Amino acid sequence: MTATRARAACLIGWPAAHSRSPLIHHYWLRTLGIEGGYSIEAVPPEGFAEFVLHLSAHGFVGANVTIPHKERALELSVPDARARAAGAANTLWYANGALRSTNTDIEGFIDNLDASTPGWDRIEDALVLGAGGSARGVVFGLIERGIRRVHLANRTMERTEGLADQFGARVCPVAWDAIGDLLPRAGLVVNATSLGMHGQPALDLDVGRLPRHAVVADLVYVPLQTPLLAAARARGLKTADGLGMLLHQAVRGFELWFGQRPEVTAELRALVEADLTKV
Ligand code: NAP
Repeated sequence: MTATRARAACLIGWPAAHSRSPLIHHYWLRTLGIEGGYSIEAVPPEGFAEFVLHLSAHGFVGANVTIPHKERALELSVPDARARAAGAANTLWYANGALRSTNTDIEGFIDNLDASTPGWDRIEDALVLGAGGSARGVVFGLIERGIRRVHLANRTMERTEGLADQFGARVCPVAWDAIGDLLPRAGLVVNATSLGMHGQPALDLDVGRLPRHAVVADLVYVPLQTPLLAAARARGLKTADGLGMLLHQAVRGFELWFGQRPEVTAELRALVEADLTKV
C-alpha cells in the first residue's frame, strides 16, 4: 500500500520574519478539512536558488516568497504577467512540470476593494501615493481593472517617473507637494508608502478635500487603523484596509497548492487581528 503524503507549502524568507501566513493557511486547512501543512523556511540568499529549484524534493508543492528573495524568485521561475509587471514574485507553484510564479499582492489589493467597497471602480481618477514595490502592483491592478487615470505621487520624483514610463499614458506623475490640488477629483486614494506604520510619521493628507463618494485605501496594516483611515472614517468616507489586502492576497496561493479556493471570513480576520494586536 502506498501512503499518500499530505501536501505542504511554505514561506521562504531570510531572516524568517514573524509572518501571519502560517496562521492564515492553517486556518483554511483546518476549516476546509484538508490534510496539509504550511511552514516557515529560513533560507539565506546563497541557498535560495538550490532550495527553490528543488522545492518539490524538499517536500513542497509550492511556496510564498518574502524579503529578500522576491526578485530572485521571479528570475528562477516562469512568471505570469502580474509577477513581471510587479518585478517580483511572491507565490510559486508547479504546473505541467514547470515552476510558475505570480504576484498575489495585486489581486489581494483589488479583491479587498471589491469586498470592502463594492462599486469603487466607478471612478475616473485614482491617486496612488508611493512608488516602491507595492505601488507598482497597485498601479498595475488599477490599470488592468480599467481605471482611466492613475495619478501617481512619490517623495522621490525620479521613481514616480520611472513607474509612469513603465505603465504609459494612463499613469500621470504628480509632484509630492501638489497632491492637495488633486484631492477634489480623486475617487480613490491609495497609500502605498510606509507612512502611517508604527514608528513612522503619519501621511499628511487633508481628507476633507476629497469628494464625498471617495474611497480611501491604506496598504499599511500595523496599526490596523492608520491615522489616514481614522481621518477618512471620521469624515464618513468608505475605506479598505491593509489587513483585508493581506488576507485576500493569500487566497490564490492556497487554491494553487491545495486545490480549493478558500474564503476570507470574519472569523479569519478576527484571528489575525488578535495576533497583530498582541505585538
Ligand atoms: P518600499 O518598496 O520600501 O517603498 C516605500 C515607499 O514609501 C516609497 O515610495 C517611499 O518613497 C515611501 N516613503 C517612505 N518613507 C517616506 C516618507 N518619510 N515620506 C514620504 N514617502 C515615504 O515598500 P513597499 O514594499 O512598497 O511597501 C509599502 C507599504 O505597504 C509598507 O508599509 C508595507 O508594509 C505595505 N504593504 C502591505 C501589503 C498588504 O498586504 N497589506 C502588501 C505589501 C506592502 P521614496 O521612493 O521617496 O523612498
